[in-house]
Amino acid sequence: MKAWEKNVRTVVPYVPGEQPNQPGMIKLNTNENPYPPAPGVASALREMDAEALRLYPDPAASDLTGALAERYGLEEDQVFVGVGSDDVLAMAFMTFFHSGRPILFPDITYSFYDVWADLLRIPYECQPLDENFNIVKENYKKYNGGVIFPNPNAPTGIAQDLTDIEYIIQQNQDVVVIVDEAYIDFGGESAVSLIDKYDNLLVVQTFSKSRSMAGMRIGFAMGNKSLIKYLNDVKYSFNSYTMDRTALVLGVEAVKDEAYFQETTEKIIQTREWTKRELKKLGFHFADSCANFLFVTHEKYLARDLFEALKQKRIYVRYFNKPRIDNFLRITIGTGQEMQALVDFLKAYTAQ
Ligand code: PMP
Repeated sequence: MKAWEKNVRTVVPYVPGEQPNQPGMIKLNTNENPYPPAPGVASALREMDAEALRLYPDPAASDLTGALAERYGLEEDQVFVGVGSDDVLAMAFMTFFHSGRPILFPDITYSFYDVWADLLRIPYECQPLDENFNIVKENYKKYNGGVIFPNPNAPTGIAQDLTDIEYIIQQNQDVVVIVDEAYIDFGGESAVSLIDKYDNLLVVQTFSKSRSMAGMRIGFAMGNKSLIKYLNDVKYSFNSYTMDRTALVLGVEAVKDEAYFQETTEKIIQTREWTKRELKKLGFHFADSCANFLFVTHEKYLARDLFEALKQKRIYVRYFNKPRIDNFLRITIGTGQEMQALVDFLKAYTAQ
């Protein structure tokens, strides 16, 4: 080891899902939306003036925070935006989990949480999900420096009742509780309604799933004004211009088209329910997902083998080689046609 290497901030990085680019592939591995963004996004993109890129964007991202505030019935200073919810969450970890006490999150959950904790030297304790993969709310009643969990949880897709979520927030009023609602628009009840009641609640959402804009990188947090101010203080101390001009314009267009958002979200929910029925017939088991993916296992076939066989057919799903979940596949809900192709393949595979 070189002398300077002793001073490096080392971390084992998060590994995002593959982004293959193969003709005819069916990509069900990173929970993207199979439908394009709202039509207004495409027209605004065409009308964008490259000349304007000469200038810095609005550091406060006011057009976007304003549009989101209006959509969610909040004040503009109750909304914070970032480069995808990953950026918002990383910023929130840095801002709020600073006590030196361990933060709490489920043992099976979004696998970025422990990476941010490691990166920022935040101690943490994982709380085991029960045997049906439900969050055990009583586990979050102990000494801690903050709490974070997704609702619906990833990669299980299970949504927790809002009363259970409120219980966790109530029990932890001396720390910040972050509810990561990346998948909330596909089912489950948002905790946004609790923001006025609890000043320690931060709700984080994203444009990557229900708003079909994973490639644009927009995420946002909603909460009490002072939480948002603290987040902004950290953001301005790190990078004032997180949101580029394109993201600001296109993000507003996506929020404005409520009808398109409702229509595409509903289509995905319908396709998810159809896929559940078909996979059940083929002997798959899974929790009742409220997200845009299913987390499935089969008694007879190993998840890893299925993953490889699907990949051979250029159907990409996600496999996590981790304790408790190494015989599961996470399958994103695509278009009806894509799910039909997946089901046809699995029908043939399980008939062998
Ligand atoms: N939270 C959860 C639970 C997720 O699954 C994801 C998607 N990988 C994210 C946050 C981050 O999504 P994005 O940065 O695209 O908003």
